[in-house]
Amino acid sequence: DVTATKGNEFEDYFLKRELLMGIYEKGFERPSPIQEESIPIALTGSDILARAKNGTGKTAAFCIPALEKIDQDHNVIQVVILVPTRELALQTSQVCKELGKHLNIQVMVTTGGTSLKDDIMRLYQPVHLLVGTPGRILDLARKGVCVLKDCSMLIMDEADKLLSPEFQPSIEQLIQFLPANRQILMFSATFPVTIKNFKDRYLPKPYIINLMDELTLKGITQFYAFVEERQKVQCLNTLFSKLQINQSIIFCNSVNRVELLAKKITELGYSCFYIHAKMLQDHRNHVFHDFRHGACRNLVCTDLFTRGIDIQAVNVVINFDFPKNSETYLHRVIFLMT
Ligand code: ADP
Ligand code: MG
Repeated sequence: DVTATKGNEFEDYFLKRELLMGIYEKGFERPSPIQEESIPIALTGSDILARAKNGTGKTAAFCIPALEKIDQDHNVIQVVILVPTRELALQTSQVCKELGKHLNIQVMVTTGGTSLKDDIMRLYQPVHLLVGTPGRILDLARKGVCVLKDCSMLIMDEADKLLSPEFQPSIEQLIQFLPANRQILMFSATFPVTIKNFKDRYLPKPYIINLMDELTLKGITQFYAFVEERQKVQCLNTLFSKLQINQSIIFCNSVNRVELLAKKITELGYSCFYIHAKMLQDHRNHVFHDFRHGACRNLVCTDLFTRGIDIQAVNVVINFDFPKNSETYLHRVIFLMT
């Protein structure tokens, strides 16, 4: 999907030469459809509400205009990218660093679960672009160490998730620290009606991009197995022996069940990592990094892990526990949609 375009070129956007070099060095030859839609509009300063399915290149669709707009000689935070998870914050900052490789733009990641003191120290150094989770950034803004009065671009990736009750209050408070001329860009694959209040209040006249007209499950083969709880592990074992697994992600509904299942899978003789929210951040980062680099075939996790993660080798998703609703199901199988 990232290749079928209208025929625009990255040159068409009059980007800084150093940014173009970063884009080409990352191996992007042409903008993807969502990039073609959003880059020129974002550069005009308009608010954007953009919906496109996973794997279509949304990250670069907002990182490129963000990097273009940042004045690297002005050592203040000019862009904030909000994401719902720590893993996604790291992944997104990595994309910014790669695309901005030839620019002198300082990118900082800040998320809950890591040392607040370290972040405060880091903020004494120049930061142009801040990527992080809402609660931590709000904390830093309230302490006065993270100054957002020159931050004219706020990006919300996985925006519908960010507008869940868990995050929305922090985001609304955070917006109070931004200047009046701020621009807000919201990106997601799903926009439930529940975002309407927020949208009406903070970006009343956004440019709307919707590239979701076709059904997203095309190309994914879906199966279900009807089994009792006590037969599930045996069933999984059968699947492992029958499926051609490149890498798999296996979802459970609780931290306990993740740990138990990971143990069972290991006992069955399959290599297996697990990730859940109760693990130490450092450890989580390592597991995520190693899985992504192919150190292990199977990953057991809770839904914390679903949003925005780009792991191309995953070809099997197993709902070991039934997803709580259809949206959760979609976000789980979305791993297969790239
Ligand atoms: P999304 O956020 O829409 O799910 P990502 O931003 O994670 O998608 O991008 C999915 C993959 O597509 C990434 O591996 C990214 O490097 C690649 N990609 C993005 N834009 C382009 C492009 N213009 N050309 C080639 N590959 C691209
Ligand atoms: Mg994404």
